[in-house]
Amino acid sequence: MIGVLALQGNFSSHVKVLGLLGHNSKLVKSPKDLDDIDGLVIPGGESTTMTKLINRDEKFFESIQSFSKNQPILGTCAGLILMSKDSFDSKVINLGIIDIESTRNAYGRQVHSFDAELSLEHGSKNDSFKASFIRAPKISKVGKNVEVICIHDDFPVAIKDGMHIATTFHPELKNETIIHKLCFGDK
Ligand code: GLN
Repeated sequence: MIGVLALQGNFSSHVKVLGLLGHNSKLVKSPKDLDDIDGLVIPGGESTTMTKLINRDEKFFESIQSFSKNQPILGTCAGLILMSKDSFDSKVINLGIIDIESTRNAYGRQVHSFDAELSLEHGSKNDSFKASFIRAPKISKVGKNVEVICIHDDFPVAIKDGMHIATTFHPELKNETIIHKLCFGDK
């Protein structure tokens, strides 16, 4: 069973995509919800709002950090920002689960959102998939043990750090399963 952090933002589309892969999901709203799940999605939304909501329970940040030692986490967009080591914004508390730095809203205000056809660096061209960039961050620094798994316009847009995956885009809005499968497998 895969958990989907469900404090704010776009969590229901992740539940749907996980279902396409045969995974049951569980909405995670408090630290105790992490107990019986095998992986976690931190969805897109607003990283500042999610920071506030996670902070309502003093154990929540630490619980997600210790969960990440043994189980995979997929972070998308705001989820990537929260998982980063640093995003240089005092309104965001970074979990430091992946060795990258990120910059919020890095595509500028006028271009709030766009769709793109992406493909994985080591996949075949047939594996291309559609994804949405919505007030997306950019990855500004990648640690040395981090693998860049997807590039768009010369920027890394998806990375793998150990068992964790993070994307600056939303992979869950077009019924694509490729990123979720990479993180959690299928059944
Ligand atoms: N701009 C948002 C933030 O900084 C992220 C947007 C998203 O998750 N689609 O948190």
